[in-house]
This record gives sequence, C-alpha cells and structure tokens, in this order.
Amino acid sequence: MSLKSTLEIDIVKATTSKIDSVDFENLLFGNIFTDHMLVCDFKEGAWQKPIIKPYEPFMIDPSAKVFHYGQAIFEGMKAYKDENDDVWLFRPDENFTRFNKSAVRMAMPEVPEDIFIDGLKTILEIEKEWVKKGLGNTLYIRPFMIAIGSGVIAQPSTQYRFMIILSPAKSYYSGEVKVIIAEHYSRAANGGIGAAKAAGNYSAQFYPTKLANAKGFQQIIWTDDATHTKLEEAGTMNVFFRINDTLYTAPTSERILDGVTRKSLIDLAKRDGLNVEVRSVLVEELVNAAKDGSLKEIFGAGTAAVVSPIVAFSYQGTEYQLPKVENSFAQQLKEDLTKIQYKLAEDTFGWTV
Ligand code: PMP
Repeated sequence: MSLKSTLEIDIVKATTSKIDSVDFENLLFGNIFTDHMLVCDFKEGAWQKPIIKPYEPFMIDPSAKVFHYGQAIFEGMKAYKDENDDVWLFRPDENFTRFNKSAVRMAMPEVPEDIFIDGLKTILEIEKEWVKKGLGNTLYIRPFMIAIGSGVIAQPSTQYRFMIILSPAKSYYSGEVKVIIAEHYSRAANGGIGAAKAAGNYSAQFYPTKLANAKGFQQIIWTDDATHTKLEEAGTMNVFFRINDTLYTAPTSERILDGVTRKSLIDLAKRDGLNVEVRSVLVEELVNAAKDGSLKEIFGAGTAAVVSPIVAFSYQGTEYQLPKVENSFAQQLKEDLTKIQYKLAEDTFGWTV
C-alpha cells in the first residue's frame, strides 16, 4: 500500500493544537483524542465525501437508531513510530475486513477501502506528531460507524456516519490480572453477534464484569453459552493457555472475535517452533492442569493490551494460582510481535504498512 492517498478528502485544519498540553508519560487509556477526526456520512444509498476536521462534539437527532437499537460497530488498531520517525500500521487490512464483516452482520453499509484505509493514512499524516517513539507508545485508532438516521421504528437506518478518532496510548492493563471463569453469563451465542465488533457486545459485558470486579477479579474468562464448559475469550481479548509446553487457543467461531493479535501470535509461535494447537480447552482440563502443575501460563491477546498475562483464575469459588515461569511464552511472543510492530525486527510476514 502506498503512503499517499488518492482519495479526495476535504481537510479543515485545527487552528491550534492540544498536543503541548498532553502528558504523554501519564496517559489513561482512551481518554485524550488528537486534534482532528475523520467523518464520512452515508445517505441516499451512497458514501459522501469524507472530511477531516477539528475534533469536536456533533449533533444527532434524539431518535437516531444508534441510541435505540444499538446499530454501532467499531475497530481497534494502533499506529507505531520507528526510530526513523516513520509511522507504521499493523495489518490494517485485517481490521478493514473485520469492520465490514461487522457491518454486514449489523445490517449496515460496508465502508469502501479507500475511505477506511486511505482516510486513515491521511489523518495519520496530519497527526503524526501524536505518535511517539519508544516501545509501548502508540496512537490507538478507533474507526467506528453509527446509525444516524432518525425515527424510532425498529428497522435498519438509512443514514450512517463512519468516523476515525485517534488517542495516544501506553499499554492498556497495569498490575496483575486475575480472572473468574464464567458459569452463568455469556458474551456471545451461536447465531448471535459475538464475532462482530458491535457496541452491544461490550455493554453486555459490563454488568458481569462489574460483579467480577466486586469479587476482586479484573476480567472474566468467557465460556460457551450452551454448556459453559469451553473456554473462549478473556474479557475483550482472545485467550491462550499453555499446558506443559503446548499453547492452546480456541478456534474462532460465531461466538469468538477473530483477533488480529491472536492470529499473529499463532504464526509467531509456529515460527519460533513452539507447539500450538487451535482447539477448545475445557474448563475441566484447565482445572486439572492447574491441580497437577502442568498449567504454566494463561494470557489474553488483543490490540490494546498486546499480551496480558493472567496470574490466577477462579472457578466455582476456588482460586488457582499460576506458577511463575522462567521462559514465558507470553513474554516471548509479546517481544516477537512488538519488535515487528516497531520495526526492530525484520517483518518476514509482511504485516507492517
Ligand atoms: N476479542 C474481543 C471480544 C475483542 O474485543 C478484541 C479486541 N478487538 C479481541 C478479542 C482481540 O482482537 P484484536 O487482536 O484484533 O485486537
């Protein structure tokens, strides 16, 4: 992909920048946004000309479908800066493809590639000062689409707004992560929208996660909705288990988001000669492995946190601690991935753009 866009975009530059007021060393995830945003509306069956303009609130009708029926999808990706001050994206085509899969599932129009990808490159060119050098520094990218058509009839909207906003970030999680295995609540079901990055999937997680937080756990490991016996995702991340020296992660399905980090870690683990098995791990297997000492690691994988090691899990009221391991797969794979993202290692996969 080329760096310069051929797409016609209206650009209205902000007259002042907030950048000097931002403390880049102490960023709360997703709290501060850059000076500009990209906006592109869909109406009368067509995508309109995108505009990049100063970041600001906007008005929509109170009856807009997004408020009533939750027609809203998003993506999460990051830009990285290398030592030469070049800005890189990691597998943006994957996010673009997944965005449109989500759009189809939510009966929303697909966004053309030039608006998503070239629009993103154009706004990044304008905001490149917001991408800071150094491992862990990123510019988090939030493309999203909402139904802005008015009227409370429960039908898909005819008008939509696609936007890209950008937020400087450091790593997402801090401190030790303890998880509780879901025995009642589910984040997704067969035939549902679990494989889409639909807003409602996330609000549906808030309440069970709040209950877990009250018990001292940061996240939930989601199990399959039908039997609660298969381990599926960790919070808003895909999840990996290392039992002895084999790494397991569930296959993607209608209930599991097809994570870019997940698929990249599988490829990196294979490259490194690790045993990787893509199959469902049963709760029972995990408990047994924890009891007999063969369970070495559990970690979440996702764009925001990259790799998030889990130190303990709770199931049916019993807490199981993970051992401290010397040659952590989580650590190794995180390093492998971040080296590629920051151009510190050769990208033999062709993932960086
Ligand atoms: N599962 C869920 C439910 C998520 O929201 C995310 C974050 N997008 C992931 C997994 C990880 O996906 P990715 O590696 O593409 O960020």
